[in-house]
Amino acid sequence: MKKILLLPGDGIGPEIVGEAVKVLSYLRDNRGLDIQMEEAPIGGSAIDACGQPLPEETLEKAREADAILLGAVGGPQWESLPIERRPEKGLLGLRSALGFFANLRPALLYPQLVEASTLRPEVVSGLDLLIVRELTGGIYFGHPRGVHVREDGQRVGVNTLIYTESEIRRIGRMAFEIARKRNRRVCSVDKANVLECTELWREEMTNLASRYEDVELTHLYVDNAAMQLIRAPKQFDVMVTTNLFGDILSDAAAMLTGSIGMLPSASLDELGKGLYEPIHGSAPDIAGKNLANPLATILSVAMMLRYTFEDSATADRIEQAVGQVLDRGLRTADILSPGKRQVGTREMGDAVLAALERLDTE
Ligand code: NAD
Repeated sequence: MKKILLLPGDGIGPEIVGEAVKVLSYLRDNRGLDIQMEEAPIGGSAIDACGQPLPEETLEKAREADAILLGAVGGPQWESLPIERRPEKGLLGLRSALGFFANLRPALLYPQLVEASTLRPEVVSGLDLLIVRELTGGIYFGHPRGVHVREDGQRVGVNTLIYTESEIRRIGRMAFEIARKRNRRVCSVDKANVLECTELWREEMTNLASRYEDVELTHLYVDNAAMQLIRAPKQFDVMVTTNLFGDILSDAAAMLTGSIGMLPSASLDELGKGLYEPIHGSAPDIAGKNLANPLATILSVAMMLRYTFEDSATADRIEQAVGQVLDRGLRTADILSPGKRQVGTREMGDAVLAALERLDTE
């Protein structure tokens, strides 16, 4: 029996997690998925309920869970709080407390939504790439850091880019293993021509490649990688990179698809335990209006099945069900285009469920 912790959070979080729970409950009741679900507060709703964004009890439940499904956190009502007590701190605290060092961000463009991209259809149609970002090291965590006054009276800002060889190997192995389940190509992104730290990164990735002879490894400098992502993104299968470069490149890759409401993500630890969440925020502007697109959260469940439960067949079925719903012309407001039928959050969830049921009886 696997334990799933649900963290709906704020804004549209409870609405979209509710739709994902419909899918999980269906799989549990009809497809023998051996799971137990439990819910806990995080973010602004946790601040309101118990005064802090990541209550100890929530963290304890997260430690005990095999997988965590998060909606989103944050909203204008908590923006005046000091930074340490804001909703976003709850999420950052969770990620670092549980050692989720690998952030997986797929950028997959459903052919039915090709119009949503700002790039020409021939450039993005069929896009299916995955960025593996190192999440717990690098310049975001390196010491020394801070702003201080130098002897000559100038203020100086310092951050440190630091990676150990074991940190590089750990994220590298994750990328190679995932590439084996995809198209067996890894592109490692660094700035080895300028930064010694990423010279080590390149060396370690190259060493690792000899243990994965069935996977092709290439290297790109990050400036070129950014350019190639916009010029010809379909050349990539798996990209692996540092925390900082991954932060930037994964947002650029997400925007190639043009639909923020469609993109899931996973953050994994060494044992495959994961935090799964849509890449978008809590969308306070549409919260409570049955307008939010639940597909990124439902697709996060597919990632959970693939990466934590190692059940690719069911993950594929969920993704197929989403594809069928789009084929039928159903759209939430964020992905609506002329000639398509607008549906609400709940109707979209129900439509995915119905498609799953149909797939099961075929
Ligand atoms: P956002 O992603 O919440 O919203 C940006 C725009 O996209 C909005 O117009 C919103 O309506 C739309 N949108 C987002 N998700 C959607 C969905 N599923 N369906 C339809 N439309 C959707 O980003 P923001 O407005 O910059 O941030 C709002 C709050 O969310 C802030 O408090 C921010 O800190 C927080 N945030 C949280 C996370 C997270 O929990 N991981 C991530 C980003 C932002």
